[in-house]
Amino acid sequence: MNTSDFASLKLFITGPTLVREETRQAASLPEFGHRDKENDKRCAPIMEHLRALAGVHDEYEVCLINGSGSTALEASVRSLVRDDETVLNISVGAFGDLYHNIAVNNGKRAVQLRFDNGRAMDAERVRAALEEHVPAVVTMTHNETSTGVTNDIESICSLVREYGALPLVDGVSIFGGTDIGLLSARPAMYVTATQKCLALPAGFGIAFVAPEAVTKAETVPVRGHSSDILRQLVSARKNQMLTTPNTTLLNQMAVQLDYIVNTEGIEARFARHAAMRDQVHAWVEKQDGFDLFAQQGYRSPVLTTVRAPESVGFDALKNDLKERMRARGYLFDPGYGKLNTQMREAGERPIFRIGHMGDITPELLAEYLDELGEELARL
Ligand SMILES: *Cc1c(COP(=O)(O)O)cnc(C)c1O
Repeated sequence: MNTSDFASLKLFITGPTLVREETRQAASLPEFGHRDKENDKRCAPIMEHLRALAGVHDEYEVCLINGSGSTALEASVRSLVRDDETVLNISVGAFGDLYHNIAVNNGKRAVQLRFDNGRAMDAERVRAALEEHVPAVVTMTHNETSTGVTNDIESICSLVREYGALPLVDGVSIFGGTDIGLLSARPAMYVTATQKCLALPAGFGIAFVAPEAVTKAETVPVRGHSSDILRQLVSARKNQMLTTPNTTLLNQMAVQLDYIVNTEGIEARFARHAAMRDQVHAWVEKQDGFDLFAQQGYRSPVLTTVRAPESVGFDALKNDLKERMRARGYLFDPGYGKLNTQMREAGERPIFRIGHMGDITPELLAEYLDELGEELARL
């Protein structure tokens, strides 16, 4: 096959993200047997490094689940919500809606508390919903990728605890880009994936599971097979996966997590993301007629949503600008599709996103913003 026309674009989308050359090269390391001791050489350090990134020791078990972030979200719902219980899904955007849909599609008694796009969870409304619905389990999104809002999961998890419910957190798009504060928030389960801030290809969901989640799962009669966190943990305790993993991705993950923890350093990685957020905010301020969409105080360290002026049409973003940036070697993110459909129908201005997650550097970002600024000026 002739692959010479496969473009090599720098991805400024919000996942999958740009993969470093060393991590790409790791894809050519040899395949191995996933029940052989070769597996341990990759997976023992992978498990240890994931814990280090989460800032935990033995407070949480960690497992890799074939699939992606959604697969791990589904496992949390199937393993931790009984059919005679209510699950409250708090949503601040499309990915909060996804968690709700997963609960509904699995036949759970699910109710949703929805905040407006661009807003963060508000404690008083959460409290009212907890009082009204008396849920056994509450799901929330740490970093809402469609709107660029990062929620305060620590305060909402503690509120959920006041009402005796189990909090579950979707951290798919933020884990690896900031200190997630797992030990302060203490959800029963925290879920993420490989292809966002970890800057790896997609392929595994990653779940941090607290002992109370294990206890709870034992009371849920039907948990499925690969969606059963108890089965998953039996394998994870041997540093293995329940079903045959993509050994190419495991090779890449071993190399990439070692780089994150031992070469870049966890603190430096988090600081880089925070600095890139400030860099993008400063750039947006200089663009006439553009402004930040996400609620102040809750703006994501790993992606920024930008509201374009009225003069920039939805189609211009999706077509012209995207193609012009492609010609410059970048994949531009014209905003979350469903969100922009809603904005268009409501007569609002379009919103685009700038992903600054994973291994994007401040230097790469500066070049991108310069070129994006030039193209925006031409629209
Ligand atoms: C990307 C994303 C998901 C979905 O993850 P997949 O890996 O695509 O299944 C879920 N939640 C959030 C917040 C995300 O950003």
